[in-house]
Amino acid sequence: MNLIIGSHVSYNNKSQLLGSVKEALSYKSNTFMFYTGAPQNTNRSVIEDSLTMEAYKLMKENNIALEKVIVHAPYIVNLANFNNFDFSVSFLINEVERCSTLGIKYLVLHPGSAVNCSREEAINNISKGLNLILDNDYDVTILLETMAGKGNEIGKTFEELKAIIDKVKFQDKIGVCIDTCHLNDAGYDMSNFDEVLDNFDKVIGINKIECIHVNDSKNEISSHKDRHARIGEGQIGLDDIVRIINHDALKHLPFLLETPNELDGYAREIELLKSKYNG
Ligand code: FE
Ligand code: FE
Ligand code: ZN
Repeated sequence: MNLIIGSHVSYNNKSQLLGSVKEALSYKSNTFMFYTGAPQNTNRSVIEDSLTMEAYKLMKENNIALEKVIVHAPYIVNLANFNNFDFSVSFLINEVERCSTLGIKYLVLHPGSAVNCSREEAINNISKGLNLILDNDYDVTILLETMAGKGNEIGKTFEELKAIIDKVKFQDKIGVCIDTCHLNDAGYDMSNFDEVLDNFDKVIGINKIECIHVNDSKNEISSHKDRHARIGEGQIGLDDIVRIINHDALKHLPFLLETPNELDGYAREIELLKSKYNG
């Protein structure tokens, strides 16, 4: 078995999915993750099917499986905040539709931040939003990301994610994306990853994990900072990251780098992790 690894790649209006595939291939990735526009805004362009078809052809030629490719929702969307709720819901309904048009199965979403409300209300708002968004015929699963717990972020514990998931009607369309930097910053001991996954399994169920963000962290465990470091240059360290990509329960899933890198940095990290994979 090959390690399924890639990174966050760009996506622009002009070349769309085709441009993202080309960028992923330039790093020797066999999967990738992208935002359907800028991560920090919600302006989105119309998808051109001819570019999508060309992208599929290139993916097929290079053994990139479409069902392992991930879209990340923009991080300014906040389902927890009731003031902006209608906008967030309608944006995400359109985002799910865009994923479906592109043939993408998984949409990663930051659960939200408890602005002007309690954490309990935030969790209720998020579940309510998800039930409005997932109520459709699209074969797209939303993956809630484990968060560092910066500010009022929801999703810094498995229990919080579970509380959201439990209120979602469409159980087959909700899953989790674990982020190694965020787990460390949230207080999970990544040097004892077996225990972290056992805990996840007891609280949520390991089969809910559909992708992993592989990042080192600039900060100590429980720092709640969310500052990503390059692989092996942070507080988690290469050895623990190598154990994570080789974990039996996860090794078939896509691993995505979101490390602070210039272009050749991703290529180096992808090569490094491939060389450390036991298959
Ligand atoms: Fe994220
Ligand atoms: Fe992440
Ligand atoms: Zn992060």
